[in-house]
Amino acid sequence: MHYDVIIVGAGSMGMAAGYFFAKSGKTTLLVDSFNPPHDKGSHHGDTRIIRYAYGEGEEYVPLALKAKELWNDLAKETGKEIFLQTGVLNVGVAESEFIKSVLSSAEKFALPVHVMESAEVNRKWPGMSLSSDMIGCFETTSGVLKCGECIEGYRELAELHGATIVTNSRVLDIEIHENSVTIKTEGNKYEGDALVVSAGAWAGNLLSMVGLKLPLEPIRKTFAWFDVDETLYGQQDFPAFSFETPEGFYYGFPSIDNVGLKVGRHDGGEKINPDDPRRTFDEDDEGDLRRFLQQYMPHHGPLKYGEPCMYTLTPDEDFIIDLHPNHSHVAIAAGFSGHGFKFSSVVGKILSELIIEGKSEHDISPFKMGRFIKN
Ligand SMILES: Cc1cc2nc3c(=O)[nH]c(=O)nc-3n(C[C@H](O)[C@H](O)[C@H](O)COP(=O)(O)OP(=O)(O)OC[C@H]3O[C@@H](n4cnc5c(N)ncnc54)[C@H](O)[C@@H]3O)c2cc1C
Repeated sequence: MHYDVIIVGAGSMGMAAGYFFAKSGKTTLLVDSFNPPHDKGSHHGDTRIIRYAYGEGEEYVPLALKAKELWNDLAKETGKEIFLQTGVLNVGVAESEFIKSVLSSAEKFALPVHVMESAEVNRKWPGMSLSSDMIGCFETTSGVLKCGECIEGYRELAELHGATIVTNSRVLDIEIHENSVTIKTEGNKYEGDALVVSAGAWAGNLLSMVGLKLPLEPIRKTFAWFDVDETLYGQQDFPAFSFETPEGFYYGFPSIDNVGLKVGRHDGGEKINPDDPRRTFDEDDEGDLRRFLQQYMPHHGPLKYGEPCMYTLTPDEDFIIDLHPNHSHVAIAAGFSGHGFKFSSVVGKILSELIIEGKSEHDISPFKMGRFIKN
């Protein structure tokens, strides 16, 4: 069979794209090395934060708001619980660029963000202990996406609209022809009119097969769950959070369904080869997270468990969402730099627009790959 579009990598971005293509009536093939959602790439660990007043830059806000709308649609169409409105508390010193961008995004887009002095934060959430020079910016409408449900939801709907998903099949080769593409897996060959490459931490390797050398760096990250008193840290009252501290940039989630307080560190991490066995969560990882908790959430209990995961960083930590410079039937979504999940609904839609219409109705000019390609 010849497909209208082939998607290599059916994870966060690819699965959403599969849904939007199939819904548009395109014959769609998704191929993945594993069986998404899975715990081998960048989308496991149950939860991802979604926030709209964006510390990483105002240009992300319209996309975050559109993503939210699409997540609501996904929840309605599948009947799944996709989003929990816990609110998100962004913490830092008032002069921090991240906090300044949260506040300017909130002002420009009239987002409900309440600025709180440290004492007010510590009073409202007795599980927190902010130092006096910090402020909290609490966005009430933001919260938590259940990432496994999101990918399962798009998978179900994509299949309902006729998409074919080939799992546990790694793409080993890609050939681009003038108006078509061929991909090869162990023992199989598939052909299509158009291609999307959305391969997460493996994107650098796959993109080199289509003549692109992009600065994409897979990084080992970890997160962990700690036992806590539910009255202090449970989802009923406690928000998701991001903390820019002198020691590092940490983020986390309230204890949802009694699983424990989840914490991770956004900055730092080791460069890795995504094919090498990942070092499991160890004492150093625990020590780092525990130091953060001891200072800012001192009433936490013992570690329950921790896991490794992967970011794919670009040098400026902004995404790459673009058409191939020499082949307008090839679209690329890569380098989500540890903050892409919340956007995956809208990125899926954008990828389908790029291939079907040659352009997107959303402003993706900040994400062009040209910024990394030297003439
Ligand atoms: C610890 C951690 C915490 C995070 N927290 C947040 C957060 O709170 N909020 C947020 O918005 N974002 C967050 N992120 C970032 C977000 O999860 C990622 O940006 C996003 O999941 C990346 O999506 P992706 O589609 O690029 O990669 P993935 O979801 O990993 O999908 C890539 C897929 O490609 C497949 N693939 C790769 N190579 C091949 C091949 N050769 N053939 C076939 N298939 C292939 C893989 O198997 C995989 O399924 C976090 C990430 C991590 C690791």
